Amino acid sequence: MEKVVIIGSGPAGWTAALYAARAQLAPLVLTGQQPGGLLTVTTIVENFPGFPEGMDGCELMMRMQKQAERFGAKTSFGVVESADFSRRPFSLVVDGEELTAQTVIIATGASHRHLEVPGEHELENKGVTYCATCDGALPMFRNQPLVVVGGGDSACEEALYLTRFGSEVILVHRRDSLRASKIMAERTLGHPKIKPVWDCVVTEVLEVAQGKVTGVRLKNLKTGAETVRPCAGVFIAVGHLPNTKLFGKQILTDENGFIVPRQGTMTNVAGVFVAGDCADHVYRQAITAAGSGCAAAIDAERFLTANP
Ligand code: NAP
Repeated sequence: MEKVVIIGSGPAGWTAALYAARAQLAPLVLTGQQPGGLLTVTTIVENFPGFPEGMDGCELMMRMQKQAERFGAKTSFGVVESADFSRRPFSLVVDGEELTAQTVIIATGASHRHLEVPGEHELENKGVTYCATCDGALPMFRNQPLVVVGGGDSACEEALYLTRFGSEVILVHRRDSLRASKIMAERTLGHPKIKPVWDCVVTEVLEVAQGKVTGVRLKNLKTGAETVRPCAGVFIAVGHLPNTKLFGKQILTDENGFIVPRQGTMTNVAGVFVAGDCADHVYRQAITAAGSGCAAAIDAERFLTANP
């Protein structure tokens, strides 16, 4: 039986692992489908303290893993299929095998939100993507007009990255100002290749019949006018949804699926703790996720001392 199982391997998961390992709890980290989490598909991370020149997201996550493993954290490249939190020890089924745990730290993060418009799903990987760093350099996007949807930091980051490849980057946002941080918004709007299109939503990705992206149908929310913008790629960056479905009704969430922590990092189940973006719809930063991972490990350690 494991003393501490950590589900998820983003900054929250690895920081929880580091602290639990240093408390000699030999935590087991279940990496999930995307080891390292969403930071591994970002470009340079400029706002994680301690790296004045910035740090590659992938490299940062590998370093966190190495640091946690140095103190005894164990890594399993497993995906949790089901969890039973009805009694202690808790039971998890990981790739068909059951394991038991005295405490669990949920650090499952969040996934890309979809637009849910016609053509989006059908043309995924045929021009529709959720990750510029993963797909931006593909030949089909070179010297072509590209559309980025969204107005947050992610959309700005995607748009800036795509300026290396596209002939122009059309940034479609549903309002007339960006939600992104000031520095990112200024960089984005100041870039000569980025053309913002305000107050518009994508209502359809074209052209399913051709099996590739040829453009987007846009609707102006103020005037109701519809237009078609030719493009070869649509990069969707409209936020994230918490990865909490797995736990069903066992773990209390808000109406959007974010776990609601109480008294620090506790969930409604004694012995199950939460850290990172799956419980945070406000800050959602690598550093805040890491901080909550630290807190969850300390809470789990104290719980184990009180409930051996
Ligand atoms: P976000 O801040 O939640 O922004 C999502 C954007 O998508 C918003 O502009 C939102 O519009 C728009 N949107 C949502 N649903 C939509 C829909 N159905 N159709 C059209 N537009 C839609 O998400 P994010 O940009 O992924 O950022 C998440 C967090 O990570 C933030 O805290 C951010 O600061 C952080 N982050 C930081 C960096 C960095 O510092 N370099 C990079 C990436 C992310 P509204 O504005 O109208 O709501």
